[in-house]
Amino acid sequence: AADREKVNSVAKIKVVVRKRPLNKKELAKNEEDIIETLSNSLVVHETKLKVDLTEYVEKHEFVFDAVLNEEVSNDEIYRETVEPIVPIIFQRTKATCFAYGQTGSGKTFTMKPLPLKASRDILRLMHHTYRNQGFQLFVSFFEIYGGKLFDLLSDRKKLFMREDGKQQVCIVGLQEYRASDVETIKDLIEKGNATRSTGTTGANEESSRSHAILQLAIKRSVDGNESKPPRVVGKLSFIDLAGSERGADTTDNYKQTRMEGAEINKSLLALKECIRALDNDQGHIPFRGSKLTEVLRDSFMGNSRTVMISCISPSSGSCEHTLNTLRYADRVK
Ligand code: ADP
Ligand code: MG
Repeated sequence: AADREKVNSVAKIKVVVRKRPLNKKELAKNEEDIIETLSNSLVVHETKLKVDLTEYVEKHEFVFDAVLNEEVSNDEIYRETVEPIVPIIFQRTKATCFAYGQTGSGKTFTMKPLPLKASRDILRLMHHTYRNQGFQLFVSFFEIYGGKLFDLLSDRKKLFMREDGKQQVCIVGLQEYRASDVETIKDLIEKGNATRSTGTTGANEESSRSHAILQLAIKRSVDGNESKPPRVVGKLSFIDLAGSERGADTTDNYKQTRMEGAEINKSLLALKECIRALDNDQGHIPFRGSKLTEVLRDSFMGNSRTVMISCISPSSGSCEHTLNTLRYADRVK
């Protein structure tokens, strides 16, 4: 009962915003910081033109569970987002942490350290609180690119998804590594990140079109019987989403095909609907809307927790994308 209470004390959905500092490029273009932050709200100062071409500022205020400004470290981000959900994955809970935002807003910068910090805490719990209780930690890492699955720990081997009839999602052939120390996990994360799609035009260009999914699964042997395959107890997923601007209706001058944009758009919309359905406790969760939500199906069922980190650039030049990101985050809650 105490364990149940522990689970119930963690909010089902948490939405936080992370604002990054202005970068050199933005500073060089004399772009301004248009985001004013408070502890759980922010104001976007949008400069607009009147018909006579004089400027005026329109303010947009948003309230979230937390707003983390450019001075907040990755350690603090971890404490605010993932740390509270780590203990409850030992209590048959599935939890997911997403990073959403336009390309260059800080998604990968924010997401990269989180699985390692979480594994450190998971292993600590396994070795102390849950010592000798047969728990094991497994790591997998894959991406969804153009609606297809690729294993990031296995040279981008193509993977296929299957449902087992018991509402469990199975990704056929996905490599899962058992890890009992932080070093192993660190190597796996680095390997996966290095394997992420990097095109000829540079890392961000290609990775902005894929969703990267790193999963930490906690398993346990049935009745302490080591000869049987261990069963999943809980799961923690980290998802570095495709750049949100890729899902916009207008295709830009890049070589992005309309199909690609449509696929990303579909998955981000389906994701929003699934998270909203979670909060409403509706029986029906529209996970069939996209490959991303289908793959995450078991993380949307039953007792689950979601953290959305919306990453934004502070600069005036990104105002429109920033407003889109904040409106999306606002709709999720
Ligand atoms: P995305 O994954 O959303 O495309 P990145 O995480 O690659 O964006 O971030 C773009 C650039 O900005 C990177 O060089 C990254 O190091 C830097 N950056 C992002 N967020 C921060 C931050 N909070 N503090 C300092 N630098 C940051
Ligand atoms: Mg990125």
